[in-house]
Amino acid sequence: MKLRCGLCCLVSAALAALLIAMSHGEVGAADKIDVLIVDGQNNHDFERTTPYLRKVLEATGRFRTYVVTTPASGAEPGAWKGFRPQFADYDVVLSNYNGETWPEHARTAYEEFVLNGGGVMNVHAANNPFPDWPRWNEMTGLAWRPSSFGDRITVDAEGKPVRTAKGEGPGAGHGRQHAYAVITRDREHPITKGLPAEWMHPQDELYHGQRGPGLNMNILATAFSSQESGGTGDHEPMVWWIPAGKGRVVTTVLGHVGRGQDEKTWPMRCAGFHAIVTRGTEWAATGEVTIPLPKELPTATDVKLIE
Ligand code: ZN
Repeated sequence: MKLRCGLCCLVSAALAALLIAMSHGEVGAADKIDVLIVDGQNNHDFERTTPYLRKVLEATGRFRTYVVTTPASGAEPGAWKGFRPQFADYDVVLSNYNGETWPEHARTAYEEFVLNGGGVMNVHAANNPFPDWPRWNEMTGLAWRPSSFGDRITVDAEGKPVRTAKGEGPGAGHGRQHAYAVITRDREHPITKGLPAEWMHPQDELYHGQRGPGLNMNILATAFSSQESGGTGDHEPMVWWIPAGKGRVVTTVLGHVGRGQDEKTWPMRCAGFHAIVTRGTEWAATGEVTIPLPKELPTATDVKLIE
């Protein structure tokens, strides 16, 4: 009887632990991570980059990907009634969206998802929308905004953050597209660990003057925006993350793909970009990284593209 009771207790305890784990939506190392990609409006070629991003994520074996597409730009307000992503059914949201603001019900669902522990991975122009959504701007940190919107964060030559006040210095923009070196500023963070201190990224836009509350910013990588290229002469953030409630929001402004752009020239093919997006998405979802870096990485002088 005692033995049976002991076994019973063990089984009950194991079941209870499993139920607790499930109710918290925790993702173990062996489980697949469910990613919801949001797209539908963008001044970039989202119709082709969403399938590409799915392919890149799925190739790691770590993710199951799903897509939710918003109504098209200019759709009548009623069309948005059906845009009700069940964020809580996923571990992480990857935003490939840059468009009109969302209705209140979708904003609230997104905020609750993140504050309760959901992850977010913003890619390139995904930091452009929602100037009228304060909570989103807090969670994202820096966005494509005029200088009057908020503070700017850059880093000095030693990698120390520099805050420029609202209204001072340049607002959001970019110089001419060119290949540039990305500097890994945090070489211990799970997302960037193992990446070279400096790595060449193929021709891309180099966002500068991004604005926002810029609070609780953890800058993982920057790039020098040269004045010769039409930039600012400052080290601009390229990859960062922000804690939001129990959740984590990772943003990279790398990865410009214009409409109809030849896939051979996509900066999304950069092995460094692959590392940031796959590991960033995993880390946003779980707080850990198990995905290895690509076998071949860019160096300080040479880009490395993935076919
Ligand atoms: Zn762009």
